[in-house]
Amino acid sequence: MSSSVKETVLEINLSHLTHNYTYLKSKIDATVKMLAVVKASGYGSDAAIMATHLEKIGVDYFAVAYVSEGITLREAGITTPILVLHPQPVNFEKLIKYDLEPSIYSLRTLTKFIEVATLNKQKEYPIHIKFNSGLNRIGFGENGIDHIIDKLSKTDSIKIVAILSHLAASEDHSERDFTVHQINLFRKITDIMIERLGYRPLLHQSNTSGLLNYPEAHFDMVRAGIGLYGYGNDAKYDAQLKPVASLKSVISQIHKLEPGDSVGYNRAFKASDFTKTATIPIGHADGISRQYGNKKGFVMIKGKQAFIIGNVCMDMIMVDVTNIDCEEGDEISIFDANSDAAKVAELSGTISYELLTAIAQRVKRIVIDDN
Ligand SMILES: *Cc1c(COP(=O)(O)O)cnc(C)c1O
Repeated sequence: MSSSVKETVLEINLSHLTHNYTYLKSKIDATVKMLAVVKASGYGSDAAIMATHLEKIGVDYFAVAYVSEGITLREAGITTPILVLHPQPVNFEKLIKYDLEPSIYSLRTLTKFIEVATLNKQKEYPIHIKFNSGLNRIGFGENGIDHIIDKLSKTDSIKIVAILSHLAASEDHSERDFTVHQINLFRKITDIMIERLGYRPLLHQSNTSGLLNYPEAHFDMVRAGIGLYGYGNDAKYDAQLKPVASLKSVISQIHKLEPGDSVGYNRAFKASDFTKTATIPIGHADGISRQYGNKKGFVMIKGKQAFIIGNVCMDMIMVDVTNIDCEEGDEISIFDANSDAAKVAELSGTISYELLTAIAQRVKRIVIDDN
């Protein structure tokens, strides 16, 4: 049997992306804006492909982690506002040049940004102010308010267009009290900010699971990452979300082993019985880390699990297909709509985000759109 897939590819299903976007939109009020987080190459897929499609179907905002990722989107023709969640001051001038909006999270970054905006003759350059409400990663504390207002009163180079914070455990129902505390603290801080500024910027605090689990945290905009991309069908997310990315490959060769034969480097697998193996052209340089080797990770062939045996090589893995009727050239999947990334990741002690964001650039991205 031949397959439609001829090599290792990451398929990006745009109709699933549309489905997820529409589904998540149905969970928020019509007045609430939708920001799509497309950091880390769109969670390992392809930021430009994702963003181009999302822009077409009406997303209001994008966010990336770094300035370089924002530039990639601008160079792909994206005109929607782009928030940079964690910009480094060394890149502020580039950020302005590419019309990106910084998340300003400390007095140091605020001071530096005002300096760069002023030097570049900006007037009311849009910035987002980030407060820490309990994640303790980046963000001003409540005691930063006076400093922010003081700095603003001395410049017209910048304008606060939004205030944000980030939830620490919105997917975890046992941490409900903590999350409610974060939401209340954000409300308290933003009430003070609005009063001191004399206008109301956009307020945003929710990530995908906040969007799904805490309607009271939607404020004016939500920031959805995984939800849009549906990576995982993770129990912690929502069964309605569809996986957007599928990692597929083909069988390069089949070997029939006698008892005592070994497989791969360091002979890490030794056959105790007659064993049939299939070699697949994907390895740790493609993002299948060593931890998936030695029967931790698996691939799906003809609807059956085939466990990786021996060590993962740089460019290949070998899987056990003793009980699977398959031949060279047959399609296999590491994850797809039926066998999700979260499940594969969990068996190797990690999460789907790590599996997905590790997929190397040399793996070809292919777009499918059933609509
Ligand atoms: C990554 C990120 C998000 C999106 O998180 P998901 O859990 O993937 O929805 C939202 N906001 C910030 C600040 C982030 O860093």
